[in-house]
Amino acid sequence: MGATNTTELIDELRSWLEENWDPDLTVGEWWERLGMAGWSAPMLPEDCYGRGLSRSDALAVSATIAAHGALGAPMGMSIGLASPTITTHGTREQIDRLIPPAVTGKVSYCQLFSEPGAGSDLAGLTTRAVKDGDVWHVNGQKVWTSGGQYADMGMLLARTNPEAPKHQGITWFAIEMLQPGIEIRPLKEMTGHAMFNEVFLSDAEVHDDNRIGDVNNGWAAANTTLMHERSGMGARGAGGAGPESAYLTRMARGGRVAGDLDKRAGDFVIERRPKRATKEKRERRVVSPAQSHIDMAREMGVIDHPVVRQGIVHAHILGTLTRLNTERNKASGIPGIANLGKILMGHVVRHNRDLGMAILGARGMLHSYDDDMRGEMAKLPGGSGAVAVTAQALGAQALPIYGGTDQVQKNIVGERVLGLPKEPGDLAALPFNQLPKNG
Ligand SMILES: Cc1cc2nc3c(=O)[nH]c(=O)nc-3n(C[C@H](O)[C@H](O)[C@H](O)COP(=O)(O)OP(=O)(O)OC[C@H]3O[C@@H](n4cnc5c(N)ncnc54)[C@H](O)[C@@H]3O)c2cc1C
Repeated sequence: MGATNTTELIDELRSWLEENWDPDLTVGEWWERLGMAGWSAPMLPEDCYGRGLSRSDALAVSATIAAHGALGAPMGMSIGLASPTITTHGTREQIDRLIPPAVTGKVSYCQLFSEPGAGSDLAGLTTRAVKDGDVWHVNGQKVWTSGGQYADMGMLLARTNPEAPKHQGITWFAIEMLQPGIEIRPLKEMTGHAMFNEVFLSDAEVHDDNRIGDVNNGWAAANTTLMHERSGMGARGAGGAGPESAYLTRMARGGRVAGDLDKRAGDFVIERRPKRATKEKRERRVVSPAQSHIDMAREMGVIDHPVVRQGIVHAHILGTLTRLNTERNKASGIPGIANLGKILMGHVVRHNRDLGMAILGARGMLHSYDDDMRGEMAKLPGGSGAVAVTAQALGAQALPIYGGTDQVQKNIVGERVLGLPKEPGDLAALPFNQLPKNG
């Protein structure tokens, strides 16, 4: 969509927000309006509850909603991963049944892909689904399941034909998480949070109506999910109102489990104290991707330190490259951009970790592991910004792993984009049940 059309789109959204945003609605009521108007998942096709927008126009939409002081779309995998996979591979009936609850935040999805023995080699998964009448019975174990403890639905990959080569015997299902055959055990990370879980499936059931795509053709659907995951990570989140905005929004979780749907939507939006910057100061202020680090370096009195200054310039360059990469991603058909964007984001988070710690100095050794501690630590030098820096520093290793490790992204670019030879001893043609197993 060109610049003029983007302007028209944003004007349309602003008028819609004027008419529809009401802080006294519940989160669920607000998301019903936002989702059914196509503003929650604007990248989905127009006939699939979206508006067919490019990624950069979708980022402009979320920034406009935040700048208006309204609560943004439900975060997470329902909109970013499950919905595009279902709209690409599902039937019309499945789209009309499964997409509205996802884009209106009524249900929340998790991703049941990785297993203890199948991460990088995802096609080696062993969770088994066997059909009996119209119902599939699922047995196996998943791990690293982010948000599984809040999910109503899971994007499940299961083996449905162990006699076919490993990529050809997998099926993609949308499975109900809240059933007796599914046990979810949270795993605590070094950040203090429990973001992901182990999930045990013991004779769990999923109706054939919720099979997305053909039986044994789940690898194609899985690739759609993974492609959206990688390009989303490379584009750096959903976009916000930016550092000059008058509002901050707290995250509200979708789905029945998290319990946010009945809360007042306006309580998730916080008005910042109006800045009393002079006109001259406002004009001098350059908003950079490294702005939060610049502000913190000033606060900690290290803005003149040459190492910190060099790190800030580097963060500015990496952040700008990320933005330009997102723009390039808009032009469809550039192979490997999503993979390269994800690798670049890995560099950005590691660099920002090191820069944040250099700015904080000894304060960086203290981390808050729970909400009570976070409140106390925010009173120390660096304030709540420092609390975020230590959390990001401990979490920085995650992004180069999830959604496919950096090494795996490089393999994909090497083999599929640059045409380099595959690794020797490729076993992809052997039937899954004849593959050599560890120990
Ligand atoms: C924070 C976090 C959240 C996650 N959330 C989810 C989720 O919600 N749902 C989900 O399904 N999964 C999730 N994952 C799992 C993630 O996708 C896997 O961890 C990832 O694919 C790597 O698999 P693995 O952990 O089994 O490591 P392994 O595959 O065992 O890899 C170990 C090491 O070997 C390297 N390696 C492996 N194969 C190759 C190769 N062929 N060439 C070169 N190097 C190789 C890897 O790069 C890595 O360094 C999450 C992971 C993290 C860290």
